[in-house]
Amino acid sequence: MQTPKLAVIIPCFNEELCVESTCNRLLEVLSILVNKGKISPDSYLYFIDDGSTDSTWEIIERLHNQNNLVKAVKFVRNYGNQKALIAGLEGVRNIGCDCVVSIDADLQQDEGAIEKFVDEFSAGYDIVMGVRNNRETDGFFKKITAVMFYKTMNILGAKIPMNHSDYRLVSKKALDVMGLYPEKALFLRGFFHELGLKTTTVNFDVKPRFAGQSKFNFFKLMGLALNGITSFSIVPLRIVSCLGFLMAFFGFLVGVETVFEKIFFNNSPNGFATMIILLCFFGGLQIFCLGVIGEYVGQVYREVKARPRYVAEKELL
Ligand code: UDP
Ligand code: MG
Repeated sequence: MQTPKLAVIIPCFNEELCVESTCNRLLEVLSILVNKGKISPDSYLYFIDDGSTDSTWEIIERLHNQNNLVKAVKFVRNYGNQKALIAGLEGVRNIGCDCVVSIDADLQQDEGAIEKFVDEFSAGYDIVMGVRNNRETDGFFKKITAVMFYKTMNILGAKIPMNHSDYRLVSKKALDVMGLYPEKALFLRGFFHELGLKTTTVNFDVKPRFAGQSKFNFFKLMGLALNGITSFSIVPLRIVSCLGFLMAFFGFLVGVETVFEKIFFNNSPNGFATMIILLCFFGGLQIFCLGVIGEYVGQVYREVKARPRYVAEKELL
């Protein structure tokens, strides 16, 4: 097999402090791999500017003018990191490549692991998932929510390895398969794992963000998690149905018991506290279940509208 052409996609949202050094570092990694004969010399970087409002795009343009291996696309507004990644995958599929690695613009993921990714690709794997060795760089809250999220996803049937971030290599074959999926809300972590292509993992170290701040706040993270769950699995709907059935059955039993007591023992039950507690509990549960169904209706609504996943304004090739 001839040496593969590698593309590296980097989503950027207000990363003016990071993007230049990241670019230089990644170009260095590419040239090391080219020199080792592991990738072809026309391997390139592809930046996705996710609607930055700072000078990120100007910096990318300058880098592109200095070096043609730096390519990029610019969104008209911020669409979020998943959309940026999808745009990157679609962009490099159009430009052409044999495999593509996605990495964060802050280089929190050890870029040295790209070599291991490429080795696994050359060994015949279509999907190589980066799994972080530790979460020391994350705060307490993020650690807990991440664990909860991965556990939930695994219960729902997405066997995503714990601590797999969006640092992964996928082959051209996987990109072509992705092209067959018209749905707008793709949750990439679950999606690629589910394709059934030959998959392996590579461990890597996480570093602290070297400049700027995390672009994820609580709401973005919750959105990502909810989207991930509702676009991936309908198990929560089943759980809601089962719950409803069990509750109704319970209500039936309690009803029978009450009538029984009244007829045979002339016992009209008091228990006002019990009533209030049950009322609030069932009321809350019903609204929660409605919310779960609502999330899915929302997902259907968004898919039915079939709006484009993102709108790009400029592309530098
Ligand atoms: N990002 C993006 N759009 C967004 C938020 C983030 O493209 O709306 C990019 C960001 O520029 C970075 C990557 O996604 O390259 C990961 O973001 P960040 O490092 O802020 O997340 P964290 O590492 O804190 O989870
Ligand atoms: Mg980061």
